[in-house]
Amino acid sequence: MRLLIIGPPGAGKGTQSVLIAEKLGIPAISTGDIFRYNVKNETELGKKAKSYMDAGEYVPDSLTNDLVRDRLSHEDAANGFLLDGYPRTKAQVETLDEILAEQNLSLDGVILLEADQDELVSRLAKRAQEQGRTDDSEEVIRHRLDVYLEETAPLVNIYSDREILAKVDGLGEIQAVTERIDEAISSFSS
Ligand code: AMP
Repeated sequence: MRLLIIGPPGAGKGTQSVLIAEKLGIPAISTGDIFRYNVKNETELGKKAKSYMDAGEYVPDSLTNDLVRDRLSHEDAANGFLLDGYPRTKAQVETLDEILAEQNLSLDGVILLEADQDELVSRLAKRAQEQGRTDDSEEVIRHRLDVYLEETAPLVNIYSDREILAKVDGLGEIQAVTERIDEAISSFSS
């Protein structure tokens, strides 16, 4: 299956996508994780991405699109993938459409993981403490939520118009949320 998971920062996309992808036997591809890996290893890409990430801004589309194009060409993604945190802008939606169309492929479904704003801020602050993420100071957290609302929330309409969107409540125990996502995925495949 070829799936996307979209949702505001802190909604639990990362945790859920690893669990879901493992069950489906497809790779979970997180652009955030790939950027963080590059920043940590001080690669050229990491050096370019770091200042945007630290400020809670999106990394420019050109860098992000090249990264995803390359990652999707790896053999493990040939039979499906779960993209976490991409696409986040209209230009990224267009690029993903192009990448898939070049191979006569299309998306099977898009999961929108929803969560209340206050819950998100408190989850993100907790995670920042636990993981020492430099992009998670309170001010940056609020900015990241604003950027999400401005740039990414409108993408929901694109996928809902295509009738491949399922909204899932991201609140509650991890396992309960996974079950809701499982149900949504069954609706894609039927
Ligand atoms: P995430 O772990 O998905 O919240 O991503 C962490 C940070 O990486 C984001 O705040 C952005 O700076 C950057 N990033 C991840 N994915 C994208 C994307 N699709 N487009 C632009 N920037 C991204």
